[in-house]
Amino acid sequence: MKRRTLESATSHVPEISTPYRVLIYSTKEYDKLSFDTKVKDLKQPEKYEIHYTHERLSKDSAKNANGYECICIFVNDDGSREVLEKLKQIGVKLIVLRCAGYNNIDLKAAEEFAIEIGYVPSYSPNAIAEHAVALVMALNRRLHRAYDRVRNGDFRLDGLVGFDMNGKTVGVLGTGRIGQFTIRIFRGFGCRVLAYDIYKMQDDDRHALGFEYAELDDIYAQADILSIHLPLDHKTKHMINARTIDKMKKGIILVNTARGGLIDSKALLDALKSGQVAGAGLDVYEYEHKYFSHDFSSTVIEDDVLLQLLSYPNVILTAHQAFLTQEALCSIAKTTLENIYSFMTSGKVLNVPKT
Ligand code: NAD
Repeated sequence: MKRRTLESATSHVPEISTPYRVLIYSTKEYDKLSFDTKVKDLKQPEKYEIHYTHERLSKDSAKNANGYECICIFVNDDGSREVLEKLKQIGVKLIVLRCAGYNNIDLKAAEEFAIEIGYVPSYSPNAIAEHAVALVMALNRRLHRAYDRVRNGDFRLDGLVGFDMNGKTVGVLGTGRIGQFTIRIFRGFGCRVLAYDIYKMQDDDRHALGFEYAELDDIYAQADILSIHLPLDHKTKHMINARTIDKMKKGIILVNTARGGLIDSKALLDALKSGQVAGAGLDVYEYEHKYFSHDFSSTVIEDDVLLQLLSYPNVILTAHQAFLTQEALCSIAKTTLENIYSFMTSGKVLNVPKT
């Protein structure tokens, strides 16, 4: 490995070896395909040496990053202080998250250890919105149950009664990139949308989308459907809990494609049992890191809450797949490689998480 010439470098430019060796953790075949494809589009693809591992980043697998100055991780990789410290010791200078959320990385510790962090703020936000609405529609029209029935030759319709979307009130928590697409789709159904966000959109933009801002309690009281599009942080953790669920209109449909920790799962179970919540569409789950992306079909699942959720007919759970479209994967790979290139050449990451 030769060191990059630093003739035009300032003190901010890190000394990075060429080729840029990158280790991609938690790799699935579709990640490999999108990164292998996108790296060829770069000006000097030969400058990159990308290695893949199926392993998740953890305190045990951190040592595999020895010899890499950059690693790439995903939503359920462990970016805790303990892991970052190990990475620092073996010379990792840059961690790029190939996702929009960064709740799994200790940003304070990263700063302390002088490890730069990059992420992908936006990639097909519509993909996540489309999945959220798909969950609502599947729950409403009982598609999961209808699918099973007709495959078994049971063509009865009892128990499959849904409701019109037109005229229903939808609460959207978070009017950022994904929330806005979600609003647009629900408005297309003829729904009335009430939304909540700490930062309000400009009136003109809001009018164009055709929704109103409202206080959380008013949304809870009026919404027939609630779709969550907020980041997970100390303020939003368990914001959907027994107390807030109690304020909701009885029979609400709850959809979470954001982060599992936004919902207190036990409180949700109780509400599903009592009928306070009529249905839940979950693409994320509080303790998903142990199970999601793995095959547990021949193993005993020890998480009782997850087991109960899976057993309820009014719950549809997908394993964090809302992002999973071809377009999103291409966009994720492109932005991630741009983050790496920018750091390697200027010492600055293009997309840095907000602290
Ligand atoms: P965004 O940053 O564009 O929007 C988030 C919005 O939340 C912002 O408008 C912000 O003002 C608002 N907000 C932040 N903290 C708040 C608080 N305490 N109270 C009220 N509003 C608050 O983010 P996005 O791209 O729309 O992503 C939203 C969520 O979706 C994130 O949690 C992200 O991790 C998740 N996500 C999930 C998937 C998936 O595959 N399931 C994919 C991408 C993103």
